[in-house]
Amino acid sequence: MKQLSQEMQDLLSRSMDSHVRIAVTGLSRAGKTAFISSLVNQLLHASTHEALPLLEASREKRIIGARREPQTNLMVPRFAYDEAMRALYAEQPDWPLPTRDVSEIRLALKYKPKKRSKKLLGSSATLNIDIIDYPGEWLLDLPLLEMDFDQWSEQQFAALEGERAQLAEPWLSQLAQFSPQADADEDQLAALSAAYTDYLHACKAAGLHWVQPGRFVLPGDLTGAPVLQFFPYVEKEQEKQVNKDSQLAMLRARYHEYQTKVVKAFYKHHFATFDRQIVLVDCLQPLNAGADAFHDMRGALEQLMGSFRYGKSHLLRRLFSPTIDKILFAATKADHVTPDQHPHLVSLLGQMVYPAWQATTFENIEMQCLSIASVQATQPGFVTKAGTSYPALRGVDLGGQPQTLYPGEVPRKLPDASYWQQHGFEFTEFRPQKAQIDAPLPHIRMDKVLQFLLGDKLK
Ligand code: GDP
Repeated sequence: MKQLSQEMQDLLSRSMDSHVRIAVTGLSRAGKTAFISSLVNQLLHASTHEALPLLEASREKRIIGARREPQTNLMVPRFAYDEAMRALYAEQPDWPLPTRDVSEIRLALKYKPKKRSKKLLGSSATLNIDIIDYPGEWLLDLPLLEMDFDQWSEQQFAALEGERAQLAEPWLSQLAQFSPQADADEDQLAALSAAYTDYLHACKAAGLHWVQPGRFVLPGDLTGAPVLQFFPYVEKEQEKQVNKDSQLAMLRARYHEYQTKVVKAFYKHHFATFDRQIVLVDCLQPLNAGADAFHDMRGALEQLMGSFRYGKSHLLRRLFSPTIDKILFAATKADHVTPDQHPHLVSLLGQMVYPAWQATTFENIEMQCLSIASVQATQPGFVTKAGTSYPALRGVDLGGQPQTLYPGEVPRKLPDASYWQQHGFEFTEFRPQKAQIDAPLPHIRMDKVLQFLLGDKLK
């Protein structure tokens, strides 16, 4: 009963503009943990520091204060904000440990409203902000809802080309022992599933991001559960007839269980409750890794966008009526390149996002692309060589060594294979800068992010 009334309250305050649920996603290492840590940190400092000039309410000095509130959804782990702050504000600053599951944190932001309707209710108003973090890999599973086990298996085998075929070899050689008509053997299914999961991890390690089922690489609280123990299998003609206790029947049953208990459950219990979404994209990592990784990332992004494409007849609308009205794509870690390259980064991200976006109807969703650094780890400057000055970055690398460098140009357009032969691109990872204990974390354009996500709610 208590739970229900809390839900009703949340619903009511969402409709009155006093509650917003912001979801943060991106493939692993896109920068979600750093982003949420910084977002919360910026808001907590918004009333005492002037670090958010592009957030209208902050510029107009209408933010009275922010504080953390206990989250209302008790079934979701808390986002580890304090642990992140300990790492970022340490004597030797370090990056926070990434989260690997869904997690949540709630803030209450008190501000002076401008809207007449809100002013009538008092000189100050409160916006409750839930920030929810979840792995982008989970969105790669949406297409599974429209494929049966056989269709999915065929698609997975068709993808085994080039590097993927090599990476899949250990699993494929074990699969040769598999007899689909034999009686179900949980141990053998577990071992083959583990080998298949290893293949998916190997893809990720090689910079190939399109992996299915997405939950296999980031299982969260389902680690070791049988619902994550299956793998694709295309039966031969003579194997079509299998009895219900066979290995293949068990694979099919588990796939079905995964579709309903894992994929559908995520969309129903989490996704359908989001109001706004930010998708973080690390465009620089695939530039470092090469052409295959780049095109794979683009494919993964396209798949991921499928979750926001819910026209009237779409599967998602039929199942869960999602309510996202704004979506922001952000190229993260912009402090890895010199400021003159930031527009290139946005243009590159736009090239990956816009074609898929324009090809279908995204009903009433406002979209924007930006480049950001959640936690700015470098200082831009110039170096002079033979009388000419060049843009450069200064920072401390992960080994603790000070570096001044020019990491290279970001291509404005999607590069073709020759790009990696001719140019190449190499960025160094940096440690966060030493932060002053009572000051907000240095950032690039987090205020623009906040304006897009919250600006209208703070009027
Ligand atoms: P997650 O897996 O999406 O949660 O990614 P993280 O937030 O853990 O980020 C992965 C890594 O990217 C971090 O350990 C940092 O090395 C780097 N990183 C993330 N955000 C930034 C940023 O704003 N600037 C810089 N220089 N590096 C970042």
